[in-house]
Amino acid sequence: MQHFASDNYAGVCPEALQALLAANVGHAPAYGDDDWTRRVSDRLRELFATDCDVYFVFNGTAANSLALASLCQSYHSVICHELAHVETDECGGPEFFSNGSKLLPASGAGGKLTPQAVGEVIGRRSDIHFPKPRVVTLTQATECGTLYRPAEVAAIAELAHAHGLRVHMDGARFANAVASLGVAPAEITWRAGVDVLCFGGTKMGLPVGEAVVFFDRRLSEDFAWRCKQAGQLASKMRFLAAPWLGVLEDEAWLRHARHANAMAQRLATGLASIPGAQLLFPVEANGVFANLPETVLAGLRERGWRFYTFIGAGGARFMCGWDTQPASVDALLADIRGLSA
Ligand SMILES: *Cc1c(COP(=O)(O)O)cnc(C)c1O
Repeated sequence: MQHFASDNYAGVCPEALQALLAANVGHAPAYGDDDWTRRVSDRLRELFATDCDVYFVFNGTAANSLALASLCQSYHSVICHELAHVETDECGGPEFFSNGSKLLPASGAGGKLTPQAVGEVIGRRSDIHFPKPRVVTLTQATECGTLYRPAEVAAIAELAHAHGLRVHMDGARFANAVASLGVAPAEITWRAGVDVLCFGGTKMGLPVGEAVVFFDRRLSEDFAWRCKQAGQLASKMRFLAAPWLGVLEDEAWLRHARHANAMAQRLATGLASIPGAQLLFPVEANGVFANLPETVLAGLRERGWRFYTFIGAGGARFMCGWDTQPASVDALLADIRGLSA
């Protein structure tokens, strides 16, 4: 039985696994000084069409926390959406690794910040008693399964830069965003003003690992030391890096992301015809958020389905992954339909 609780329930995609196995040959330099790490970094520079600086860490919490810490002094603050993973799901990691930089949550429809919301926070205080805003962080795709268009990123980044703030992007589902928007990766990152991207590998089908991509190389000074101190420097780095080679080859990462997005569309389309089911947000990536009657949710759980209900009263989140089968979506829909009758 496949589940919809998280895209992290899925296993490793074949391309990543093949590349991982292929890297298991002989001896290679440790701590990132190997050919696989060099090649993936070069591939990412090609993908983003710029001379960015790339690091690999074990998970998204570390990627976000360390990236944000590299942009902030302890007396700075980070503007984020109130539903942002950095605010709600990282156990204070960004604050901890930055030695106290405060997160300043702002609201916005569909999990998205707007220039207005960001501007309001920037303009709120300028005295020395309040932590100085230094970073805006955007999640792409958002925690609500919506997307920022290139122009939306650019508008926020322009405002941020005009006030001396840096722009960080939490791209745990960056692949789903790129696949859905059909844009070049550069268009929704550095060309739109993103300074640092945490490019999620795990949710798109790698066994483990995220890439931290610095488009402004001045910001990555000392980042290697920061990773090492935080316990995020992989000693056998080739195994963190190699799976990326597999998914970057022939655009497998985009193919998988497109599939996950399509499964979310299939689910959303099915839900639209079920009385009592109500979509909470536009389905733009691989997540579907729906209001369902409490009895339906309880019935689904009884039948073994796993999903989260953390947004709104009765709202359920269904995530699709690279391996989600159409038959699994249809089985879930059949159960929802049956329980709704
Ligand atoms: C999953 C996720 C992360 C990373 O979480 P880890 O469990 O630490 O890998 C970061 N941001 C968002 C929006 C996520 O959904």
